[in-house]
Amino acid sequence: MCESESLRHFFDLGDQPLANSLLRDTASFASEKRFPLGLVFCENCNLVQLSHVVDPRLLFVHDYVYLSSGIPSSLHFTGYAEEMRARFLPDTGKFVIEIGSNDGHLLYLIKQYGVQVLGVDPAENVAAMANERGVMTRAEFFGEATAQKIADEFGQADVIIGNNVVAHIDDHHDLMKGVVSLLSPQGVFVFEAPYLGDMFDQLAFDSVYHEHMSYLAVKPLNKLLTQYGLELFDVKPFPVQGNSLRYYAARPGTYAIEESVGRYSALERMRGFDNFSSYQKLAKSVEALREDIKGTLLRLKREGKRIAAYGAPARGNTLLNYFGIGRSVLDFATETLPSKIGKFTPGTHIPIVDISWARQNPPDYYFLLAWPYKDIILQKEKDFIAKGGKFIMPVGGERVIPK
Ligand SMILES: [Zn+2]
Repeated sequence: MCESESLRHFFDLGDQPLANSLLRDTASFASEKRFPLGLVFCENCNLVQLSHVVDPRLLFVHDYVYLSSGIPSSLHFTGYAEEMRARFLPDTGKFVIEIGSNDGHLLYLIKQYGVQVLGVDPAENVAAMANERGVMTRAEFFGEATAQKIADEFGQADVIIGNNVVAHIDDHHDLMKGVVSLLSPQGVFVFEAPYLGDMFDQLAFDSVYHEHMSYLAVKPLNKLLTQYGLELFDVKPFPVQGNSLRYYAARPGTYAIEESVGRYSALERMRGFDNFSSYQKLAKSVEALREDIKGTLLRLKREGKRIAAYGAPARGNTLLNYFGIGRSVLDFATETLPSKIGKFTPGTHIPIVDISWARQNPPDYYFLLAWPYKDIILQKEKDFIAKGGKFIMPVGGERVIPK
């Protein structure tokens, strides 16, 4: 991000398959590809990022399986759309662009306010879904070249949104050149990304996979935005993808700077996000977590318990592969998304089954890979719990729920 070469390595997760590359059949196990997965810290701008970048065409272009309308927090997007209207889109006739718009869920909601919308997403299958529901979407990577074409055709945007996308882009300079050239003089760039703080708070290292090239925080982003003539004027936390921050930037003086910006900056300094030793400590804690969880699972297995994974999210694959937990421990993984059911988890080759099948064939324990949705899931599976079923938490302090 700052083009410094003072990068220090602190966490190695070994060679891992791509977290969203589910396998269709047993025949494809042998040809599965693996890529190095590790984290480095920049001594200059303090950005935490991957040590190895996989070609984005392998990551994002074909058969992308994550759908924003499919996640349990789709309510999140309703509030998101309402905030955009109330704060930045007081009149109809405005123009909103979303980078990494996925299946168009958020833009669909924003469009209902009489706003012109355009999505950009390189995954051809999800871009097609968006177009089908009437959200005009270009199946392309976003950068300076794409921005130029859009500006020529549609003019500048009043709001540019990017959710879970800034962390997915290797070349932040190409991104920012595109954003700045497309943003109207009073325009706002709003983006949301998983927060680095989660790694420290919950030991949520399972957000580390090849798609997530950087692990964002206020300090390095502020530096990048300033370099491109934008000013960070607000930051808000949301309980999505674990915990995410929503960042708001515009040209200097367009909006009053909220106290949140200074508060987060101070908090990051206080917590040592700018200090390499914090990351060395973090890596040690994650290793201890691995021993703790493996111990719990193997003990239950020896006691003859049946264990399955609840959810087959991308992040769960980092966890299973790093912990070395596969089919000998977990009988199956549940899912609600048709695009995942019937396939196998990358690396660990656990069969993914429909949650309704799992409810007929419940294990004794679920290993809760989809832990960011814990509260919703515990509510949904209250029958399983009532019959004595338990959940094992892969992160945080509590290990087994209910005790
Ligand atoms: Zn840097």
